[in-house]
Amino acid sequence: MIYDDDNIFAKILREEIPCKKVYENEYVLAFHDVNPQSKIHILVIPKGKYISFADFSENALPEEINGFMKAVGKIAKNQNLVESGYRILANHGQNAGQEVAHFHIHIFGGEPLGPMISKT
Ligand code: AMP
Repeated sequence: MIYDDDNIFAKILREEIPCKKVYENEYVLAFHDVNPQSKIHILVIPKGKYISFADFSENALPEEINGFMKAVGKIAKNQNLVESGYRILANHGQNAGQEVAHFHIHIFGGEPLGPMISKT
């Protein structure tokens, strides 16, 4: 699979379409999900061109992985989610229902989140 430069998160990174930015550094951009599934629902994306978690974990440089994971923790902390709790999630591929082919982690929080996986 080849990275598609026209995916929606690539367009957000190029500022061709807007986002509600939460945090940015040299490695990541984080913004509110347009269709939130919980009170707080933030997406964290790497600035590098990685299709999915499989691609990122295999091909990203150690400093990109470190910068990304540090940023996820920092964003959750900045959102005051550490004490109340939060969930992080990455969908990879078809069975997980990945919609956007640019690796991203969801941060959910701000309320009780229910079971880890829906039984319906
Ligand atoms: P996934 O199913 O893990 O690929 O998640 C993709 C997420 O991107 C969904 O939760 C969408 O609501 C979200 N999304 C799609 N387009 C946008 C956008 N333009 N701005 C913010 N979030 C978006």
